[in-house]
Amino acid sequence: MAKKTQNFQAEVKEILDLMIHSLYSQREIFLRELISNASDAIDKLKFLAVTDSNIQVDKDQLHIRITPDKEGKTLKITDSGVGMSHDEVVENIGTIAHSGTKAFLQKSQELKDRPELIGQFGVGFYSAFMVADQVTLHTQKAGTTNGVVWQSSGDGTYTIEEVPRPEGAGTTITLKLKDFSEDESVADFSDTFTLQGLVKKYSDFISYPIHMKVTKQEPVKDSEGKAIEGKFEDVETDEVLNSQKALWLRSSSEVKEEEYKEFYRHISHDWNDPLKTIHFKAEGTQEYSSVLYIPSKKPWNFNYRDTEWGLDLYVKRVFIMNHCEDLIPNYFRFMKGVVDSSDLSLNVSREILQKDSQVQGMRKGLTSKIFKTLKEMLEKNREEYEKFWDEFGATIKEGVPSDYENKEKLENLLLFHTSFSDKMVTLEEYVKRMKNKQKSIYYIAGESIDRLRNSPYMERLKEKDYEVLFLVDQVDEWVIGAIPKFKDFPIQSIMAENLDLDTEEEKKEKEEENKKNEERYQPLKETILKALEQDVREIKISDRLVETPACLVSGAGDPSAHMEKIMKSMGQEVPRGKRVLEINPKHPIFEKMTGLDSETQKDWAEIIYSQALLNEGSQIPDPLKFSKQIAKLMV
Ligand code: ADP
Ligand code: MG
Repeated sequence: MAKKTQNFQAEVKEILDLMIHSLYSQREIFLRELISNASDAIDKLKFLAVTDSNIQVDKDQLHIRITPDKEGKTLKITDSGVGMSHDEVVENIGTIAHSGTKAFLQKSQELKDRPELIGQFGVGFYSAFMVADQVTLHTQKAGTTNGVVWQSSGDGTYTIEEVPRPEGAGTTITLKLKDFSEDESVADFSDTFTLQGLVKKYSDFISYPIHMKVTKQEPVKDSEGKAIEGKFEDVETDEVLNSQKALWLRSSSEVKEEEYKEFYRHISHDWNDPLKTIHFKAEGTQEYSSVLYIPSKKPWNFNYRDTEWGLDLYVKRVFIMNHCEDLIPNYFRFMKGVVDSSDLSLNVSREILQKDSQVQGMRKGLTSKIFKTLKEMLEKNREEYEKFWDEFGATIKEGVPSDYENKEKLENLLLFHTSFSDKMVTLEEYVKRMKNKQKSIYYIAGESIDRLRNSPYMERLKEKDYEVLFLVDQVDEWVIGAIPKFKDFPIQSIMAENLDLDTEEEKKEKEEENKKNEERYQPLKETILKALEQDVREIKISDRLVETPACLVSGAGDPSAHMEKIMKSMGQEVPRGKRVLEINPKHPIFEKMTGLDSETQKDWAEIIYSQALLNEGSQIPDPLKFSKQIAKLMV
């Protein structure tokens, strides 16, 4: 096939422009990206060899090599990995299918200051253009005899041509280095000493040897092997620059904090330190080693639908796959880490994994380890746990309605805002400080803590000094709905019907008074109901309120006003029956109302209803009418 010139996809062109013209700091990260791609390519080859009998791999030949040329100002990165076919080059290098591209471009401003984040977006290859005027990629796919040369100066086009690769399968990337001699802040990327340092800094954990020929000055020796003073010669040695240790197989007492952190960066592409590291070995019926991390921050794409998650799976040190979702439940999808099994067959595929009983066993073990770590964090380091909760609490909550087996463990991890303090509270802590006569765990759901704190629904609870959980997260009500009881105490909304706060004795005491109120306000109740009959099914005299005249309550099966709002915002109409309006007989408004003419009573009933809507956080259907009615009243 003849040499062809082709255009980059528009998005790629934009990314290249950014790499070339805007990113000036930390150019050195290009090396980490290219080495990481080389390592991925060898992983893929190793995996292919397991599944495809036509492909043989000599394990000792798997390597990465960097070859600098100081005079020629070039740098080569070579790997003995899987390589790419012609079409794969066009697909992987000339176009971008990743959904990350758009986000990358949106974040380009931030990237100008922090180009080290590039790898996260799946555009690492292009970082080569931060340091090179021209990039040449010579690759050959394993199992084929046809090589491909791809070349570009990052100016909108590239050439592509079929040329066999002398070394066979693998990839060589040659960078024609930009001239940075004027700029002292940029290192010389053709200098062996610089390169050694960069590999140590970013790529020490890569599990294949990274070779480089290094020339050293050594003293010239005489015939007896003794150094001749003052005489030196250049000696070239081939060095391996990285330690390649599989971190998870080492004993945790040997691994330094900094090594765990670097390894985390390597597998997660996250540049923040992890919040927590879990390193353990399972022995017994199942043998596997694992290093797991709880990130300290959500990655930028955490909430995207197509964001991949899961752990990296190895079998006897052979990389099998990343993003293995079968090893942990979905609500732990923020976890990063590596699992290396001694029992699984190397032939496992994603389809088999789901049904494999070994994998199910590992999943159980890993899940319980994560639970244990979180529980410990909650008990021993509340501050750290709250940080974790801020980032991933909403994710954990998803488990409550879905994972019956671990429901109790999940319930114990939940934190809620509360009326009692600014600090969040667990259900267990709530129960511990419940009042003697208190029958239930109470909550109220709404938009913000401030609003809930001042809500009229809180009046009686405040009077009784009962604690109320504030549910302000969108999913909270749905989650709490899945916990009808905690430690035998029902969990109840204080905005729902039949809020039964009084003890039997207290009820007895009020009996007389209630009866009197019922008789006294019966006609008024009827008038109000008549005025509001489109929206209200019943008027109830209640002692739920202290200072507020009236409030609306939801029926037991109905969604709360807050839930209704959330569902509406997601485009779901919520069919709901008429409401119950509870009135506070102690409020002077009703006493006064009994003496008014029926037309005014009707007006007032509407005002009271509108106020009740506002109090629960709903919108009033006709604000104009409401304000007119108020104005009339004021005159
Ligand atoms: P990512 O590594 O996140 O996929 P990159 O921009 O670094 O994104 O690489 C793009 C793609 O190019 C890779 O997914 C891979 O398919 C291919 N690629 C890059 N370098 C190599 C290499 N040395 N050997 C084989 N394929 C490679
Ligand atoms: Mg990459």
